[in-house]
Amino acid sequence: CWARIRARLRDEVGEVEYRSWLRQMTLAGIEGDEAVILLPTRFLRDWVNSHYGDRLRALWQGEDVMVRRVDIRVAQPAMAGGPEAPPDFALAEPGGMQGLAESLAPSPSLRMPERPAAEPRSDWVVPLEARFTFDTFVVGKPNEFAHACARRVAERPASPGFNPLFLYGGVGLGKTHLMHAVAWAIRELQPARTVAYMSAEKFMYRFIAALRSQNTMEFKETLRAVDVLMIDDLQFLIGKDNTQEEFFHTFNALVDQGKQIVVSADKSPSDLSGIEDRLRTRLGCGMVADIHATTYELRISILQAKAAAARVEVPAKVLELLASRITGNVRELEGALNRLVAHAGLFGRPVTLDTAHEVLHDLLRAHERRVSIEEIQRKVAEHYNLRLTDMVSARRARNVARPRQVAMYLAKQLTQRSLPEIGRRFGNRDHTTVMHAVSRVAELMQQDAGFAEDVALLRKMLET
Ligand code: ADP
Ligand code: MG
Repeated sequence: CWARIRARLRDEVGEVEYRSWLRQMTLAGIEGDEAVILLPTRFLRDWVNSHYGDRLRALWQGEDVMVRRVDIRVAQPAMAGGPEAPPDFALAEPGGMQGLAESLAPSPSLRMPERPAAEPRSDWVVPLEARFTFDTFVVGKPNEFAHACARRVAERPASPGFNPLFLYGGVGLGKTHLMHAVAWAIRELQPARTVAYMSAEKFMYRFIAALRSQNTMEFKETLRAVDVLMIDDLQFLIGKDNTQEEFFHTFNALVDQGKQIVVSADKSPSDLSGIEDRLRTRLGCGMVADIHATTYELRISILQAKAAAARVEVPAKVLELLASRITGNVRELEGALNRLVAHAGLFGRPVTLDTAHEVLHDLLRAHERRVSIEEIQRKVAEHYNLRLTDMVSARRARNVARPRQVAMYLAKQLTQRSLPEIGRRFGNRDHTTVMHAVSRVAELMQQDAGFAEDVALLRKMLET
């Protein structure tokens, strides 16, 4: 009857729409009164849910009165950092400040985990993000040391020199990914070891909840019984002195027992001001590994790996565009690629440079290259065979003055700087001089096609 439902839907919505949105649906089975349908991406799932969910349910009921609901799920984890962050791990309380307020509120007792209560430690055993494994982590110069340390800890937890392992780096550079990879690998290689992973934020909520319910003994015992404790985003504990103190004791107790600790933060232990000295000292005692900002090469490799995993052909030019524009956060880079892939999948069309510009218009605009005045001066001087100092000097010879005007014009066009500021950067000239330069160059461009071409070329060089 699933085949009949699909056929009905196809008739109803038409072939084009069916192929765009519905073709990839598969039936996972019937669970009780619920038909479970799978789609490969979150995007598709959400779309189908909101546009065809009711219709699907009605069609099912027409075929099978036992089916009252239709549940559309994502078949495999979506390729990469879409809108949903990895789930909040391990702990039962609702997250965010609201969660804190609730934990502290006098009356209703702590919310229980949604999972049925099982053995005491079950809510500490954490679901990890399936795609954050070593297999999917792309190694390059900026992260090779951190990666090697993480591997080493995964293979031989608590070896001397690697305990604690402290990973640090900017947002979206792969700290959480590496930590999950370590946890996955330990679970696989040494299933007898218990691994507890949580964000520092969760650690704090958990601790506060324990205080509130006068259950700190259980909190301490549970944590001290794990073999590997991983705390992500430790910077969250800055200024939270009581939680820091508790973590310090947990830390010492575990290290004394020969248990492995892995911590991540956005700064090195010595730069984590607001974290108690004695804790910072201990955090820096094992292995400290920095994940550096990505390089262009690493960004290309990551994109290639993700495109291959999604089994979508993405032209090199498109990868180059993304890697050169979206330079900060790998999550954003993945998000951009995801959008292209989703778009291509929906419309059954290949990814091209044109579609990339079209689909990622807003994103690329937000990541427009910021050109500095100095860069402009350098390029213009180079182009006209002048020295950089000529750009700011008082010389008024035509062969110097004209290029200088061009540079001022470009500074006005390509940067957000004000006229007085541009003037200052060009050897302390007055803003009226800049104004004059801008209009003079515009005028000349009207009159002289060769000159206009020249300026356009410079502009292009600076913009890409
Ligand atoms: P952080 O915790 O440092 O803020 P995450 O670990 O959450 O960053 O990484 C952000 C996203 O980028 C994740 O989806 C992750 O899989 C991806 N990512 C980061 N670095 C890499 C890498 N070297 N290889 C593959 N994916 C990466
Ligand atoms: Mg993280």
